[in-house]
Amino acid sequence: MHSESPLTALNGVGPALAKKLEKLSLFRVDDLLFLLPLRYEDRTQLVKVGALVAGTRCLVSGEVLLAETVFRGRRNLLVRISDGSGQLTLRFFHFSRQQQAQFQPGMTVTCFGEVRRGAAGFEMIHPEYRLLRENQDAAMNDSLTPIYPATEGVQQGRLRNLTDQALRSMQESPPAELLPASVTSKLGMPSLAKAIQYLHRPPPDADIEQMLAGRHPCQQRLAFEELLAHYLSLRKLRALAETEDAVALDGGAREVADFIADLPFELTAAQDRVVDEILSDLSQPHPMMRLIQGDVGSGKTVVAAIACLKAIACGVQAAIMAPTEILAEQHWRNFSEWFRPIGIEPAWLSGSQRAASRRESLQAIADGRAQLVVGTHALFQEGVEFHRLALVVIDEQHRFGVHQRMALRDKGVSNAGHPHQLVMTATPIPRTLAMAAYADLDTSVIDELPPGRQPVSTIAVPQTRRDEIVQRVRSACADGQQAYWVCPLIEESEVLDYQAAQASYEALSEALPDLRVGLVHGRMRPAEKERGMQAFKEGLIQLLVATTVIEVGVDVANASLMIIENAERMGLSQLHQLRGRVGRGAAQSHCVLLYKPPLGRIAKERLAVLRDTNDGFVVAQRDLELRGPGELLGTRQTGLPDYRIANLVRDADLMPQVQITAGAIAKSSDTTAAAIVRRWLGDAGRYGKV
Ligand code: ADP
Ligand code: MG
Repeated sequence: MHSESPLTALNGVGPALAKKLEKLSLFRVDDLLFLLPLRYEDRTQLVKVGALVAGTRCLVSGEVLLAETVFRGRRNLLVRISDGSGQLTLRFFHFSRQQQAQFQPGMTVTCFGEVRRGAAGFEMIHPEYRLLRENQDAAMNDSLTPIYPATEGVQQGRLRNLTDQALRSMQESPPAELLPASVTSKLGMPSLAKAIQYLHRPPPDADIEQMLAGRHPCQQRLAFEELLAHYLSLRKLRALAETEDAVALDGGAREVADFIADLPFELTAAQDRVVDEILSDLSQPHPMMRLIQGDVGSGKTVVAAIACLKAIACGVQAAIMAPTEILAEQHWRNFSEWFRPIGIEPAWLSGSQRAASRRESLQAIADGRAQLVVGTHALFQEGVEFHRLALVVIDEQHRFGVHQRMALRDKGVSNAGHPHQLVMTATPIPRTLAMAAYADLDTSVIDELPPGRQPVSTIAVPQTRRDEIVQRVRSACADGQQAYWVCPLIEESEVLDYQAAQASYEALSEALPDLRVGLVHGRMRPAEKERGMQAFKEGLIQLLVATTVIEVGVDVANASLMIIENAERMGLSQLHQLRGRVGRGAAQSHCVLLYKPPLGRIAKERLAVLRDTNDGFVVAQRDLELRGPGELLGTRQTGLPDYRIANLVRDADLMPQVQITAGAIAKSSDTTAAAIVRRWLGDAGRYGKV
């Protein structure tokens, strides 16, 4: 058997099992080597019944005293065992008669399971167990027991057996060592084969805590190589872009200058600088790949509009994609307003659009009548054919994956080349993380807010003072201001979210009979949602009750008061985004964080950070610190594909060395670089034609 053999080369793997294993992305024998355990159990030590602790998972061995079935609502098989230090009950709800007959008093049984406190002392429910014949040893394992990621119909025992076989085959044909020895020795990391062996079958004295925290040198060895693979692949993509053709957008200077001159405001110096960077990229015959980072409210949209206008003035199409319908619609409205005077009417494309209007949009996009297209991720789905797409703008990029970015880019590939790409994000991330996340992009930062903005003054108030806050809303609205009331996020359930919002809406309407109160939530039909937002924008609604659907990008300058309910449940970055909905006009804005006491330590700190700063970069940094290295920064937030072993936050400290190593490898050996990418990202590479 070879490490590259298909899984069916293993004993006990037929086509049916191979199919199930595909769900775990296992195709070849050596794929099993990289299927690392999620955790470990200690079955190397027998624990005395007298020393059991509820809640732990232990290995116990004892003599069967009695086995009986009892009826407690349903049939239970109870097996009482003793090891001399105490008695333990094994409880089974599902069992066969044959199983029941196995447990004869006097026999020795070894079992493993979670210890619980039952009515008559400790018990284990459905433990794994083995009956021992006379004189047979309780046969303990000589390594910690790995627990693998599960998939339906594949038991842990089976995965252990398969990885055993894969590890044996590794002894004969070890995976190629692709890291230079100078790097592994400098970082004090073991060889790849040694790391793999250790992580699958750690010795009894392994430091489980360190392994659970993902900081064991063997894990770091693999994480390093995985980060390296992603980094190399992104850099490759970047290098590729430099060799690809794109339409050089070098006309349209007058249109752009006129547009900027006609804006109702002056661009900030930061916007000016970033516009210059973009226009210079766009004039090149190679695709731009640029990221704009800019805090909430820094004015990214108008910068994107200028880029789009440049493209349109050069006779090609531009598309802008936003993560939510509300935001996409708002862009559509803004762009329509800005561009209508110069005769450009943006087309609209979203998932929930009516068939007829969708057909019309698709037609206009395909024949080029639509010079600008605004939409959600519906933009890169099948059936969307662009006439001549040369610029792709992606807003709030952290909500999209690299894949989606690539898919939209591929829409624009034509014989004129690849489209230029501009991605924008309001979620700044620390430098080491950005290194990994945006290795394929050049970065621009809008580090200045439009003039006259006053920082939002933020206070945290316990729910018990809710009435007082309601009165505050009343007097603010009586003064001609507008307010948002954001309802608690209830787990990930849209239904519960909606019910909470509905309830708040009713309560607030009743408490504030003299105000015009509106409601928007995620379950509304897009047209309804849009009507609500529009009424708020036009001032017809004074108080807008909303779920976190308004989190990204919504822009109503006259709104100057924001109440966030159950703020203690939300993350720092999310609160910062929400708060960014106010403070957009000249009036002093306020944000009230309503919380349910008592506050935990972290929640208290979170609220304090918001009270103390309005700076998104500071907020992002503190967010990461507070989450701690153990917490995953989800792929949704970074826009990154899943990592199998590395954790971008926990392992961010590896990035500077990853970067250096990548540079050295890319220079010395293309084949090594390709082999590393292939090992971790598959044959095709995840990022298109890498
Ligand atoms: P974000 O960067 O969060 O996407 P927006 O692009 O939504 O911010 O801009 C926020 C608001 O600031 C919008 O109403 C926009 O018209 C306005 N704005 C943008 N640039 C300027 C500027 N230079 N001067 C004044 N207002 C501006
Ligand atoms: Mg925005």
